[in-house]
Amino acid sequence: MTRIAFIGLGNMGGGMAARHVAGGREVNAFDLSEAAVKKVVAAGAFEAGSVANAVEKADVVITMLPAGPHVRKVYDEQILPNAPKTALLIDCSTIDVDSARAVASQARAAGFRFADAPVSGGTAAAEAGTLAFMVGCDEVDFADVEEALKPMARVVIRAGDHGAGQAAKICNNMLLGISMIGTCEAFALAERLGLAADRFFEIASKSSGQCWSLTTYAPWPGVGPQTASDRNYEGGFAANMMLKDLKLAQEAAARAGATTPLGAQSEAIYQLFDRLGYGGKDFSGILQMLRGELSKLKA
Ligand code: NAD
Repeated sequence: MTRIAFIGLGNMGGGMAARHVAGGREVNAFDLSEAAVKKVVAAGAFEAGSVANAVEKADVVITMLPAGPHVRKVYDEQILPNAPKTALLIDCSTIDVDSARAVASQARAAGFRFADAPVSGGTAAAEAGTLAFMVGCDEVDFADVEEALKPMARVVIRAGDHGAGQAAKICNNMLLGISMIGTCEAFALAERLGLAADRFFEIASKSSGQCWSLTTYAPWPGVGPQTASDRNYEGGFAANMMLKDLKLAQEAAARAGATTPLGAQSEAIYQLFDRLGYGGKDFSGILQMLRGELSKLKA
C-alpha cells in the first residue's frame, strides 16, 4: 500500500488528505493544529505527531502549507533530514517561484525527486478530489507525480521544470482576478444603463465578452449557475486568497521585469476590499463594492 505523508491539513489539505484515504492509501498526517489533525484522523488517517514521524517511511510526501517561508522551513528542518531518499516530494502549496526553485534545488542536492504542484479549485474541489494540478518537475518524474496526485485530481498538467507549476498558477490567478473585476464592472455599468442583469448575462455569455468569471462564476446573484454570489458571497474563493496570489504575481513581475499594469490595479482593488473588512468574502463580492452597495455584504 502506498504510504503518504501529508503535512498541512487546513481548509485545503484536510480534504486532500482524506481523498488519499478514500483511494486506499495509508496516510500519516501532521499539522500544527490539533483540530485539523483530528478531522483527518476521523476520516481514516494516522496521527503522526510530528513531520519527522510522518515522513519517516513515506513513499510520497505532500505539503499543503500557507506560504513560501513555511515550505522552506519545513523542508529544510524536517522533511529533507528525515524522509527516505526514495520518497517523491510534492509541494502543493501556492508559493513564490523563487521559493519553489530554492526548495527544488535543495531537495535535488540531497538526492530527492521534487515537484511543485499548486492547485486550481477551492475547498469543494479538494473534498471531491477534482482539483487541477499544475506541475513543475523533471520530465522523467512526471508519470510518478501524476500517479501520486491521482486521488485528488480532475486533471494533472506538467507546466515545465521546477517552478513552472507556481508560475502557471500565479499567471492563471492574475488573469482570473483581472477578468473577475472586469466582469463586475460590466454588470455595474449595465445596471446604471438600465440593462437587466439576466439580459446582459445571456447576451455577453454568447458574445465576445464571454469568460469563465461571467459564464461559470457570475458575480451577480440569481444569474447563471449557482455560485458564491447566491450565498451572499460566502464560501468559494476568499478575496484575501486572491489578494495573496495577486501579490505573488506582482512580486514575480517586478523581479522578471514583466509589464502587468492590470495585475497591479487588480491587486490594489483587492487590497482595498480586504482593508474594508471583506477579505473573507468570496472574490466575486467586489461587485458590491463597485456598485456602491457594500452594506449588502456583512463583514
Ligand atoms: P490553511 O491556512 O487553512 O491551512 C494551512 C495549514 O498549514 C494550517 O492548518 C496550519 O496549521 C498548517 N501549518 C502551518 N505551518 C505548519 C507547519 N510548520 N507544520 C505543519 N502544519 C503547518 O490554508 P489553505 O486554505 O488550506 O491553503 C493552503 C495552501 O493552498 C495555500 O498556499 C493556499 O494559497 C493554497 N490554495 C488555497 C485555496 C483555497 O481555496 N483555500 C485554493 C487553492 C490554493
